[in-house]
Amino acid sequence: MTNRIDYLRISLIDRCNFQCLYCMPEGADLEYALKEHWLTHDEILQLLTEVFIPLGFTRFRLTGGEPLLRPGIVELVEAIVHLPETQDLAITTNGFLLAKLAQPLHDAGLRRLNISLDSLNPETFQKMAGGRGKSRWHTVWQGIQAAHRIGFSPLKLNVVVIPGINDHEVLDLAALTIDQAWHVRFIEFMPIGNDSLFEHKGWIASETIRAQIAQRWGLGEGAVTGNGPADVFQIPGAKGTLGFISQMSECFCDRCNRMRLSADGLLRPCLLNETGQIDLRSSLRAGVPLKTLREQVGVLVGQKPDINFKMRESGVTGAYSRTMSQIGG
Ligand code: SAM
Ligand code: SF4
Repeated sequence: MTNRIDYLRISLIDRCNFQCLYCMPEGADLEYALKEHWLTHDEILQLLTEVFIPLGFTRFRLTGGEPLLRPGIVELVEAIVHLPETQDLAITTNGFLLAKLAQPLHDAGLRRLNISLDSLNPETFQKMAGGRGKSRWHTVWQGIQAAHRIGFSPLKLNVVVIPGINDHEVLDLAALTIDQAWHVRFIEFMPIGNDSLFEHKGWIASETIRAQIAQRWGLGEGAVTGNGPADVFQIPGAKGTLGFISQMSECFCDRCNRMRLSADGLLRPCLLNETGQIDLRSSLRAGVPLKTLREQVGVLVGQKPDINFKMRESGVTGAYSRTMSQIGG
């Protein structure tokens, strides 16, 4: 089955105010894009209106690094929301700046947020997100509460489960969905960003987490709005849902509907390999006509099914030259 490729994840910045263990651990030697290489807001909008939308892209996500660090994000959200072709716009964030930005983002027209929350325990959270002091968890929790109060829906919470670090919290995190219409999504840990942690700790399959939750409460099928590859379930009687993103244990390359645009303008058809990547920033700044860029991207969209990394066949090993934070996770 061929999938309609109409979903673009746009990274606004490759830097972050956290150093999550699994993504960009403290001391990691990451090469950040030069600020002058970031696509400007005008360039992003030009690429959307002249290249991606004419090719059928209608659903967008702003990510990073930490997208809320990008100056002017509220204005950019407003501009994308108001493009007549935009059917969906969401942001993935670590939530640290959300208490302040949730209201302006909502006023700008944003309705969907994914917030990373790997732990309910401030100490464990700090271990995972880096930094000193235990205030990070509280600040993120305030951001989540603000987003909830303001009415973002669906409000999704992303959890990466790492054996021996936060796996003992799976039931507590799942329980958040019982009284709130929140959507907690368990993401399998991938060896991108911290290979040695991956080798040392390993990863936990969604199936194992699902079985644990099912044993405690039972589990039925669920549904939630979104563009992603999550398998959705629900604790009987719960207001929210549980999602499982199982890119390690199940290959969903065949139903992948997304392309990724990095903060420095590299368009990438597959998270896990760089085949076919186009440097849209250089082309744009060199004056390559938008029509030509549209044709190039159109060809790449057509090639995507062959480029997609067939994880189950190939195994998720190998060195990635960019982390999730650099590609735009
Ligand atoms: N900073 C934002 C955040 O953390 O939500 C957005 C960017 S972050 C790269 C996007 C998502 O990628 C987060 O949900 C994060 O948990 C996930 N991620 C990063 N590295 C990962 C890894 N090695 N394995 C699985 N998920 C990862
Ligand atoms: Fe930053 Fe998000 Fe990566 Fe954590 S997962 S280091 S918050 S980009």
